[in-house]
Amino acid sequence: MDYDKDCIFCKIVHNEIPSTVVYEDDVVKAFLDITQATPGHTLLVPKKHVADIFDYDEATAKAIFSRIPKLARAIRDSNPNIKGMNIVNNNGKVAYQSVFHSHFHLIPRYSENDDFSMHFGDNSKAYSPAKLQQVAASIKANLEG
Ligand code: AMP
Ligand code: ZN
Repeated sequence: MDYDKDCIFCKIVHNEIPSTVVYEDDVVKAFLDITQATPGHTLLVPKKHVADIFDYDEATAKAIFSRIPKLARAIRDSNPNIKGMNIVNNNGKVAYQSVFHSHFHLIPRYSENDDFSMHFGDNSKAYSPAKLQQVAASIKANLEG
């Protein structure tokens, strides 16, 4: 399905509801996130309706991933106070996804104390080399093609 009539981002892609567009071509659109977690917070979406990363075909992946660096550089260069950027893609409710049309957040970072944060737990003590091998093996066994 290319268009989902109940999807807010499909409506943005098709200009049925307004958005503040930063970049657009035939396959992707980038617009400002309404929350502006930090100034310049931008969302990049495929025009085709895909729910999440598990739903991507190669052409959609190529469209999105090939445009991220150019968009990231444009955001960085838009403000001399931008010192870095987090690029975040949430998949599934458990992973904080709230809009089920896949999107990448580009969140410019101004300081460690700006209004965005992430937490990476450190569980390394619980993982022996053998246990890491076991985890890797179960992932490898499921790789496509
Ligand atoms: P996520 O939680 O990763 O699914 O992110 C969804 C994002 O979409 C949130 O950061 C919202 O602020 C943003 N959002 C929702 N509706 C709109 C809208 N109409 N225009 C711009 N951003 C939106
Ligand atoms: Zn959609």
